[in-house]
Amino acid sequence: MIDRSLPIPPGAWLGLLGGGQLGRMFCMAAQSLGYKVAVLDPGNDSPAGSVADLHVHADYLDKAGLARLASIVRAVTTEFENVPAAALAFLAGRARVAPTASSVEIAQDRIREKAFLRENGFEVAPYTVLDSERTASAVEPTLVPGILKRARMGYDGKGQIRIKSPSDVPAAYRAMGRVPCVLEQFVDLACEVSVIVARTPEGETSTWPVSENRHRDGILDVSVVPARVPGEVAARARDIATRVATALDYSGVLCVEMFLTRDSRLLVNEIAPRPHNSGHYTIDACVTSQFEQQARVLAGLPLGDPRLHDSAVMVNLLGDLWFDGAQSRCEPDWAAVLRHPQAKLHLYGKSEPRRGRKMGHVTCLGATAMEALDAAREIRSALRIGEDAAL
Ligand code: AMP
Repeated sequence: MIDRSLPIPPGAWLGLLGGGQLGRMFCMAAQSLGYKVAVLDPGNDSPAGSVADLHVHADYLDKAGLARLASIVRAVTTEFENVPAAALAFLAGRARVAPTASSVEIAQDRIREKAFLRENGFEVAPYTVLDSERTASAVEPTLVPGILKRARMGYDGKGQIRIKSPSDVPAAYRAMGRVPCVLEQFVDLACEVSVIVARTPEGETSTWPVSENRHRDGILDVSVVPARVPGEVAARARDIATRVATALDYSGVLCVEMFLTRDSRLLVNEIAPRPHNSGHYTIDACVTSQFEQQARVLAGLPLGDPRLHDSAVMVNLLGDLWFDGAQSRCEPDWAAVLRHPQAKLHLYGKSEPRRGRKMGHVTCLGATAMEALDAAREIRSALRIGEDAAL
């Protein structure tokens, strides 16, 4: 008999699908609440697996591995959206699962995601679905300039091709491997923002302050919190995130990424059914982090206070730092970060730095966003991360 009673008491086991850095930070937060965590992840160099109480080395569709996980844990969550929905559905018959396969399935596929958002009254960038050579050669000229994005398995700007003219679309569609895609109009952005929202199965919700996100080569570079947008825009963004979670009947922690247009509209870009890189600041700058909240929802505990007690600027640390323009690998100057009174260093324990690979982050705190920004500039300069004029 499955024990579905709530709350799940500390000391019990929680399960996690996925072994990356988001999972690692979830493990640490759940363990600090007294839980044991079992991670299912096929990889050997597993940031989450190496801190979990148990690492089940298995593929996400390996029934024996999933059954083993389910035999140990009372509840399971996920740390990345591309976990096969079938794995969550399999586990749901054996343990409490949050988020559900149905929420994750929507977020896994841009075509379903955009249709869901539109049907529920959320504004998205103008787009069309491309699923054949014929659709690729008949796109509305108003969608160009645009971005072709594969519907599934795209992340950090991968699986995207900029489109300058309608005549470029068929070749780009072929270059994508003729997989289902969306062609999205290129939007004139004032900035990009995201909101992390937590929702319990009973429908209680809580959002964190809005983060303003700057990307470099499609990868999140810096998040500034609170976002430098008018209070009315921030309130609207938090409301949109809450309504998206409610429309999904979501259970767990969800990130809603949005574009703020120059005419002050908020378009929903993507939803991630898990904690998010743009919410890492919550560990050091909020009463309750996104990872602790994920553990709380999973265990059926009360939601924690998301209050921001310091302004924060989160700086991502990519593998590029280890190379510093040279061919041979050298360790970044961590002492400079550790000496800084406003900086909190987080490294994910990945053994192999590679260009573009997320190796860690630094959260810079300040009484005001300006103070946190000054600290972030100092940290970036100490680590020789290139200047970002927008910072
Ligand atoms: P995505 O994977 O959809 O989040 O896209 C990666 C990044 O590309 C976004 O964070 C934006 O900086 C940029 N981008 C994506 N779609 C658009 C768009 N329709 N208009 C302008 N910029 C975009």
